[in-house]
Amino acid sequence: MATAAFTAWVQAGRIWRPARPLNALATRLRGYGYTVYTLGNAQHLQADPPEDHCPFSATGWPIRSPLGVVFAGDIMPPPAASGLPTLDQLGAQLAADKNAGIPGANLIKYINWTPTGQPCRHESWQPGHLIQPSSDTGHNHVSWRSDCADSTAGDDYDPVARIRNGNTPTPVPAPVPTPPAPTPWPGRYLVWRRGVRMMHGTDVLQWQRRVVARFGPVIAGIDVSTPGWADGWYGPQSAGVCRALQRQFGITIDGVAGPVTWRAMFG
Ligand SMILES: [Zn+2]
Repeated sequence: MATAAFTAWVQAGRIWRPARPLNALATRLRGYGYTVYTLGNAQHLQADPPEDHCPFSATGWPIRSPLGVVFAGDIMPPPAASGLPTLDQLGAQLAADKNAGIPGANLIKYINWTPTGQPCRHESWQPGHLIQPSSDTGHNHVSWRSDCADSTAGDDYDPVARIRNGNTPTPVPAPVPTPPAPTPWPGRYLVWRRGVRMMHGTDVLQWQRRVVARFGPVIAGIDVSTPGWADGWYGPQSAGVCRALQRQFGITIDGVAGPVTWRAMFG
């Protein structure tokens, strides 16, 4: 289903041009023998939302894309035996040049590319540098900032020459997702002793809520899902639950919720 933006663009006469830095790069790469697509095909043009291969992109950044300007190019693999840098070399150079602020590359918004031996990535600078997984394989997709339609900054930018003059840079490694940090032990041993005033506090409540969320509903014959069970008081039921969990974890069974028990439950 074509968007209103597509219909308006057709009615306006389908006028389009590539943004100047995109055009400079595409022209240069074509001169070497690469195929570079800029204006999207019918599927791109009629997609909702229209993206950067459209001269009416709705995903412009940092400003709304000016009508009639295309801000993305797809660089296709070089012809076999051409001796041209591969897409992974080219992607690495573009990304490194963007990171280094090399004129022309500094206007790139994001690149979808596949570093050698790594999964395909969506590497963006809007403005923070972010690397996310992507499935956009088979070419290098380069999107440019929507505020560079007429910029001359990339007129002399030549990533192929830069690769040939030096070494292809090593891509920034994709971040390894870090597991959420474990909730630290609040610092008080939770103990219940007959005849001694019960302990009460947010640490008890936090411990009880963990019991309910992670280990319920029934532990040692106690239904911890009962509304009000987690009440912030460390009494005989809490101590009983604690012993049952300690038995389950294979740690000292004393009914005292200290750092070892805490780590076993929150780690
Ligand atoms: Zn693309």
